[in-house]
Amino acid sequence: MARIVNFMPAYAQAPAALTLLRRDVDAAVAKAASEGARVVLPAGEDALCKAFEDAGVAVARADASFGYVYGNDTAAQRLFLGEKPIPSAVTGSCEDALVGGEAWLAGDGAQTKLVWLNDAADPVELPARTTAAELAKAAGVEGAKAVYLGYPQGDVLPVDATEVTLACDLVRVLGPEDCVAKALDRICQEYRHETCGHCVFGHEGSFQMAAVMHDVCTKHGQPGDVELLQDLAPMMEGQSLCEVGRTMAKTVRQALALFGDEVAAHYTRKACPAGDCDAYKTYHILVSRCTGCGDCLEACEDAAIMGNPGFVHVVDQRKCTQCGRCLEACKEGAVVMAGNKKPKTPPKPIPVRRKK
Ligand code: SF4
Ligand code: SF4
Repeated sequence: MARIVNFMPAYAQAPAALTLLRRDVDAAVAKAASEGARVVLPAGEDALCKAFEDAGVAVARADASFGYVYGNDTAAQRLFLGEKPIPSAVTGSCEDALVGGEAWLAGDGAQTKLVWLNDAADPVELPARTTAAELAKAAGVEGAKAVYLGYPQGDVLPVDATEVTLACDLVRVLGPEDCVAKALDRICQEYRHETCGHCVFGHEGSFQMAAVMHDVCTKHGQPGDVELLQDLAPMMEGQSLCEVGRTMAKTVRQALALFGDEVAAHYTRKACPAGDCDAYKTYHILVSRCTGCGDCLEACEDAAIMGNPGFVHVVDQRKCTQCGRCLEACKEGAVVMAGNKKPKTPPKPIPVRRKK
């Protein structure tokens, strides 16, 4: 059986297969030509496309947004027919097997995997079979609570997970000060734009999930939001026509099974337990830096700052709407945003201490 080799990155910032391909293009071209393989490359990679085409290898150029071609041979086949690679529940309809570029280059029995950890600019090579704790160590995160394996895996694992097989290019390790709701919001926004609109559960479901998670993180969450997502996730997993909807729903389901209470605390306790969500952070003025100039008071449209010239200004937390204007206005760096650890500030303005 011939193969279609897919070099499309699932994440633009984590192009593992392309990175390995660039290390030795000639060898990859020779391998593809000798195996009669076809390749899928991102549109715009003209030099790489030409190298394969010059050797008689069929190339399909895919739009960057078609990351979902990753594991779907039916979608990949459509590319070679000049059709839009609609993600489909149907796999196995293509005569050729679809393989990921990294696995194909590495050959059978590859022991390592190239991954981008926590949005690092450069990848690291890690054992393909590892543990969540090892991933946390590699990411330099102390006290990690969870690991997210990006698409196409989409797993959220507790940090004590001992059998982890890496099959994705992007891994995020969540530390004690990383909010699971915020991480899910980001993941949902990433997925939302990948859905093609061909099925109600995948398309509408992903929009629904993304909207709920965004609300939760921006103080607009409602009682029952976690339960709503827990009801929606299995339906999306079962009914979505493609991997995008199914994987997103699995990620949400797994994250809520582990951290449902942390997510719900955003609306039940009106707090972000990790102190990570901006909407739940508070603004404070540091005594050590404030010169009493009054710029922040002038910038605040909610009359939430108390002070007079020559006095250390103070934010009235009852009036503050977390707009951030004072942070931008202060040239002394005296205004800070705080999560769970709040700086000590006076309850009322006090005279600025003159520096000796
Ligand atoms: S917080 Fe900054 S802007 Fe406000 S009075 Fe103090 S120094 Fe001026
Ligand atoms: S964050 Fe906005 S509302 Fe709060 S004190 Fe600063 S300027 Fe005023």
